[in-house]
Amino acid sequence: MNHVRVRDDECKGCAVCVSVCPKNCLVMSGKLNVKGYDYVQFVHAEACTACGLCFLNCPEPGALTVFGNKESSRDEL
Ligand code: SF4
Ligand code: SF4
Repeated sequence: MNHVRVRDDECKGCAVCVSVCPKNCLVMSGKLNVKGYDYVQFVHAEACTACGLCFLNCPEPGALTVFGNKESSRDEL
């Protein structure tokens, strides 16, 4: 199953990824990270297409990593 890993402490809570995800797989957690930002959470993994839009639009390069599982191969964007 496709997966997006969120590094809570790298997220600045800007919600750009939430707004660009076409599948509504990302939501604000409502919890604060060590830097005081409401960080994002990955939900609805079954709907994620591993399109990479969240990763490509996130201003914090270390916050999101997209893993796509396709039959026998696994790609990391
Ligand atoms: S990879 Fe695409 S579908 Fe998956 S969470 Fe990111 S924007 Fe949404
Ligand atoms: S776009 Fe990046 S910094 Fe902004 S809420 Fe999403 S993961 Fe956090």
